[in-house]
Amino acid sequence: MKDPFQEAIRARLETVSSSDGHLTVPVKPEEIAEQFGLAVVRTPLENNVGGFILKKHGEAVRIYVNSNDSQERQRFTLAHEIGHYWLHRDDGGEFGYVEYRGELSTRGTDPVERWANSFAAELIMPARYIRMAWAGGGSLDGIQERLGVSDAAFGHRLVNLGLIGR
Ligand SMILES: [Zn+2]
Repeated sequence: MKDPFQEAIRARLETVSSSDGHLTVPVKPEEIAEQFGLAVVRTPLENNVGGFILKKHGEAVRIYVNSNDSQERQRFTLAHEIGHYWLHRDDGGEFGYVEYRGELSTRGTDPVERWANSFAAELIMPARYIRMAWAGGGSLDGIQERLGVSDAAFGHRLVNLGLIGR
């Protein structure tokens, strides 16, 4: 599979206007989904499900996000589902994935799920933005708040970028 970080950067550049080279945060995955023609439905789902994505033959891709989750979790779930879409967008076939609680972390072992998590992390927590903010003396709390992500997602990201220890 292609590098998830490079692919997330491509996805962002295809959809988010950044002509001046600056990233605007928080990144809005709903706008990215819309520009890819993906239907996003926010609705209460079972407690153990963060969301799912479904592509049926002849229909648009539909993404469901559990509206009982926090805005931060919903943002990551949506970004993760966009990752699944990105992996399939050129093959034209049917597909579906369900995100169960606990799998929306970098600890998952399924290679496709790990890919989608890595893609989601770069999509909404751009490494370039975090490194610049960090180098500029920004507080971690402030950076996290501007990105609009959960403690867990932000913590994983900082470890993966080598900015904090495990
Ligand atoms: Zn998934």
